[in-house]
Amino acid sequence: MAAGSAIQIPSRLPLLLTHESVLLPGSTMRTSVDSRLLKGTSLRSTIIGVIPNTSDPTSDCDDLPNLHRIGTAALAVQVVGSNWPKPHYTLLVTGLCRFQILQLLKEKPYPVAEVQQLDRLEQFTNGHKSEEELGELSEQFYKYAVQLVEMLDMSVPAVAKLRRLLDNLPREALPDILTSIIRTTNQEKLQILDAVRLEERFKMTIPLLVRQIEGLKLLQKTRKPKQDDDKRVVAIRPNRRISHGSITEDEEEEEDHDDVVMLEKKIRTSSMSEQALKVCLKEIKRLKKMPQSMPEYALTRNYLELMVELPWNKSTKDRLEIRAARIVLDNDHYAMEKLKKRVLEYLAVRQLKNNLKGPILCFVGPPGVGKTSVGRSIAKTLGREFHRIALGGVCDQSDIRGHRRTYVGSMPGRIINGLKTVGVNNPVFLLDEVDKLAKSLQGDPAAALLEVLDPEQNHSFTDHYLNVAFDLSQVLFIATANTTATIPPALLDRMEVIQVPGYTQEEKIEIAHRHLIPKQLEQHGLTPQQIQIPQVTTLGIITRYTREAGVRALDRKLGAICRAVAVKVAEGQHKEAKPDRAEVGDGEDCKEHITEDAKPESISDTADLALPPEMPILIDFHALKDILGPPMYDMEVSERLSQPGVAIGLAWTPLGGEIMFVEASRMDGEGQLTLTGQLGDVMKESAHLAISWLRSNAKRYQLTTASGSFDLLDNTDIHLHFPAGAVTKDGPSAGVTIVTCLASLFSGRLVCSDVAMTGEITLRGLVLPVGGIKDKVLAAHRAGLKRIIIPQRNEKDLEEIAAHVRQELSFVLAACLDEVLNAAFDGGFAARARLEHLNSKL
Ligand code: ADP
Repeated sequence: MAAGSAIQIPSRLPLLLTHESVLLPGSTMRTSVDSRLLKGTSLRSTIIGVIPNTSDPTSDCDDLPNLHRIGTAALAVQVVGSNWPKPHYTLLVTGLCRFQILQLLKEKPYPVAEVQQLDRLEQFTNGHKSEEELGELSEQFYKYAVQLVEMLDMSVPAVAKLRRLLDNLPREALPDILTSIIRTTNQEKLQILDAVRLEERFKMTIPLLVRQIEGLKLLQKTRKPKQDDDKRVVAIRPNRRISHGSITEDEEEEEDHDDVVMLEKKIRTSSMSEQALKVCLKEIKRLKKMPQSMPEYALTRNYLELMVELPWNKSTKDRLEIRAARIVLDNDHYAMEKLKKRVLEYLAVRQLKNNLKGPILCFVGPPGVGKTSVGRSIAKTLGREFHRIALGGVCDQSDIRGHRRTYVGSMPGRIINGLKTVGVNNPVFLLDEVDKLAKSLQGDPAAALLEVLDPEQNHSFTDHYLNVAFDLSQVLFIATANTTATIPPALLDRMEVIQVPGYTQEEKIEIAHRHLIPKQLEQHGLTPQQIQIPQVTTLGIITRYTREAGVRALDRKLGAICRAVAVKVAEGQHKEAKPDRAEVGDGEDCKEHITEDAKPESISDTADLALPPEMPILIDFHALKDILGPPMYDMEVSERLSQPGVAIGLAWTPLGGEIMFVEASRMDGEGQLTLTGQLGDVMKESAHLAISWLRSNAKRYQLTTASGSFDLLDNTDIHLHFPAGAVTKDGPSAGVTIVTCLASLFSGRLVCSDVAMTGEITLRGLVLPVGGIKDKVLAAHRAGLKRIIIPQRNEKDLEEIAAHVRQELSFVLAACLDEVLNAAFDGGFAARARLEHLNSKL
């Protein structure tokens, strides 16, 4: 700082107008500058005139405002900024001395003025009379300044430096410097700037100092009792800048120290493992020595707090009673017999043998079939805490195992976090969607899960963040997935897969009425006296508004209905909202027996207003249409099968079974096969197989091209299309469907409209078994199909299908394509004569 020494400034200065603040000699300021000023001069190390702009900063006229007469000559110490996207620079300037403008020399591109220096010239600094005349004033000023500085915390380096400056600086420099340090308004600073005479400056600054001292005294007084009252309040660290005047450093440090002592006590009394205790004590020793300002201080403290919070030895007591468990499972879930049976077995073994190192159960099935909710019920029956860990899309192994503490922002993994959340070491952890783990450069989370799920290893699971082993052997893990295909084999190997198939329509109706509707009513604050949803309506929702294996969409639709009814009930005008009852069930092919259900409360054709207010709102098909819009799915099957060259296949997807149309057409061409509809390689191969088989059997079935040739590709192109092109389809099970579809195309006969089929084919015309029969059959049943052709070797899978579904369907068990074709066409698909031998081209 050049304060004190004699300064000679140039007589011409470029001017910088500042809006926000006032620069005084001896202090420093950052200000943004107009790029125009920069263009004219390279600013670094130049002296510029800083003039407070007292005019309205919002008025954006180009003319120079009436300039303040007095400003501060300043040295530009630093220029930072960039030209892109817009020129913007910040200038660091140090005030040197006052000047006054004599004459404005030019205004553009930036103002330049002829100036006269007002202070810190040689005659001022060596001034002979200042000492005597100002002696008393400056002494008084100095005393106040010292008093103020001593009220601040001397351990803060900036305060100590200021204290030293007070003694070393010439007295006449002090008013400017202190004014810019203590709390003053811009107006006050401006007055000090204008006070050219030193005496005047001292006189004006003393009241400002006194005000600040009084303010500090008051602050200290009010803070004291508060701290006595509440010693343990964790204080926000004070701003150490002197200008803000916070002076409670010591006390706060003490408080923090108290916290550390408390933390140490907690560590010693916690029941953590010996190894963990050792690590924690070492860390707390380090913590005590660490200055709080170090970033590591907070990290270490967080670590120790987590260690204390973890449930090292805290567990809930299992109350396992198989009979009660059966009741809970039955009460919470309708159907799912196989799953419930296996869960009960599992629980029974646990009851007999306490620390079971049993397999990890993995429920595999389409979404919305109750996998998660069975997991929750298991926790309920055991009286354990439940925690769900969603693994969908997790691609970083530190999500499971945590980050090492050396990383910035490191955290424990989800397992340890989950344990902290539940606060006991024996919760039920539901690892949701294990099939959706992804791999990435950050490692393979599935590999990290292996350790978690292996009963031989997981008693010493080491999270990277904790860096000490935590015993997970008491945790009960249950996994869920939509398909086993994408679960890494090593992980799958550690789990016992229990398939949870989709529901039949009847099961869905029961689930809706026993569980979903009561739950939705409760969530929406409705009572059965306010809304009535007959079973026929539920069936309508299931068949016309949803197409799913589970019940999640059904649940959402029921929620939408409840919301709509809640509005009516809240408005108190549900009477008007009721549609004409006469039409309920009209025209619907629903075979439900609902009419009596609906009768008592049904809204009769008599006047609405006559109804008593407590009459429930009946949801019939009209109401359904009003609330949910027009039906989303119609029975389109028969329409689509009205031409030759279409057949219905059955596909399995992770979301459950689906019916799938296969369409074929032929045209003149050169014997090419075109396949469309997002097919995988296996499916394409099935198509080629099907064509080859048909070509080799064309004579036998009298299949010809348009020109009558038995070579089906003779001057003919074939196009096979699998609609719903947005979904990738693959797998061998469409083989029989493609053969049937092509047989229909070349024979010109229609495939029966109520037949669906599935099965893999061989080149010799055999039908091989496929997977997912139960889901596929349910999908066909949902779609209203009647006859299903499945491979003979899949007969055993039919046992899993509910008896009433089996009764409504007829199954054809086919061992070869001959039988498939016979079953798919009305009146059979007769072969003329057996081929004696195959034409081999080898
Ligand atoms: P998932 O985990 O299989 O995707 P959820 O467990 O989340 O499905 O189930 C979705 C909803 O369906 C839950 O509200 C659940 O209670 C309900 N649900 C599913 N199956 C049944 C059932 N068999 N009985 C009662 N409610 C069921």
